[in-house]
Amino acid sequence: MSPWKAAATSPSMDDVRESYRRAGALLAEARRIVVLTGAGVSTESGIPDFRSPSGVWKRYDPRQLNYERFCTSIVTRRATWELARMSYPLLRGATPGAAHRAIAAIETAGRLDRLVTQNVDGLHQKAGNSPERIIEIHGSSLRAVCIDCGREHDREALQRQLLAGDVVVPDCEGCGGRVKPATISFGQPMPERETLDAFAAATSCDLMLVAGSSLVVYPAAGLPDQAVAVGARLVVVNNEETPKDSIADVVVRGSAGESLAAMVREAGFAA
Ligand code: NAD
Ligand code: ZN
Repeated sequence: MSPWKAAATSPSMDDVRESYRRAGALLAEARRIVVLTGAGVSTESGIPDFRSPSGVWKRYDPRQLNYERFCTSIVTRRATWELARMSYPLLRGATPGAAHRAIAAIETAGRLDRLVTQNVDGLHQKAGNSPERIIEIHGSSLRAVCIDCGREHDREALQRQLLAGDVVVPDCEGCGGRVKPATISFGQPMPERETLDAFAAATSCDLMLVAGSSLVVYPAAGLPDQAVAVGARLVVVNNEETPKDSIADVVVRGSAGESLAAMVREAGFAA
């Protein structure tokens, strides 16, 4: 099949419907689907992506709050935990949207192999996808872990201490070491097991569906190439162009919620 894409800029309604139909047909044919999601599936749940002109990311540039500085500077640890204290209620309280529900419907239909997410918001779990199928390749902001001894810390309890002002920068109860939100910061090594699992899934899928990712952050952005290399179909859903559109079988340009809901309906999966 030759690649099919709606026009890159403002596709017509007919083009958009045709992209839903083609993507839905590929979903219906597939038996081992791997889904890769990015921040764009959660913006409709009120969680800003990096690109949105949001005050949070302007004031706390994640590139400044990088891993090396977290490890070496108390100033960075304080800023990291200040941001975590402020953003945790938004992430913890967010509800899944149409995009998350459509992806859950792929699992209910028995076609989902793994769901690889770059998101740290836990919304796929809340939408009903099984935890054992989800690979959180950039960790989770709903957990906290000691980077010195690996001990998990109760994020909910930490939040109460942070809000009460009892704690500004948490120390590990076990070893006295540095506790960090369990997300992967810039410059932090990728989690080995999750990364291996994600590439293994990409190597054995027959269709990869990418939604709401700019596909510029590696190694996650290498997953579509891996899937295509082993002969899988590739569907990319995003509201702007991505560097992987050129290798996709179908590119769906639009809102993740509306597009994914339409595609799973076309596939005959109940959303
Ligand atoms: P990104 O911000 O680089 O890209 C998001 C893409 O989604 C952009 O191309 C944007 O135009 C598109 N988009 C935004 N809203 C959309 C919508 N409603 N429908 C369709 N497309 C939409 O995010 P990324 O690719 O996930 O990678 C960057 C990093 O951001 C990841 O490492 C991730 O860990 C982190 N992050 C996560 C969250 C979260 O957990 N929700 C939020 C912000 C950043
Ligand atoms: Zn420790």
